[in-house]
Amino acid sequence: RNMLKRRHFHVGDNIETCVLCIAHEEETIDHLIFNCPFSQTCWSKIGISYNSGISQIEATIRAKEIYSGRLFFEIFTITAWNIWKERNNFIFNQINPSYRAWLERTKVDLTWLRYRVSPDVSDYITSFVNSL
Ligand SMILES: [Zn+2]
Repeated sequence: RNMLKRRHFHVGDNIETCVLCIAHEEETIDHLIFNCPFSQTCWSKIGISYNSGISQIEATIRAKEIYSGRLFFEIFTITAWNIWKERNNFIFNQINPSYRAWLERTKVDLTWLRYRVSPDVSDYITSFVNSL
């Protein structure tokens, strides 16, 4: 939304605010995916901690360095993707954002990931999903 507004697209009145939080922050990528209280709850559940005071790339590199689990980028991508889907569900389907819905969808996507990895990694994913 932030990008569309900057490019002078008509995106409606008051539509530039984040739909995931009640703080009515502007919906930028940084806010929506990383700094929104909703997203922070999701990252915390996954065990990835983000420092919001630095650039997105630097924060991701630091998050990977301190992440204790395996498959950082796969888990990172699935987490971010499902935050995005939670946002889109509100925009396009008028479904209120829900941490529980995000968690269930994230678990399903992580479970699908098991079919793309070796058996020992698959076992790791299973125990990771069960820990959520
Ligand atoms: Zn927000």
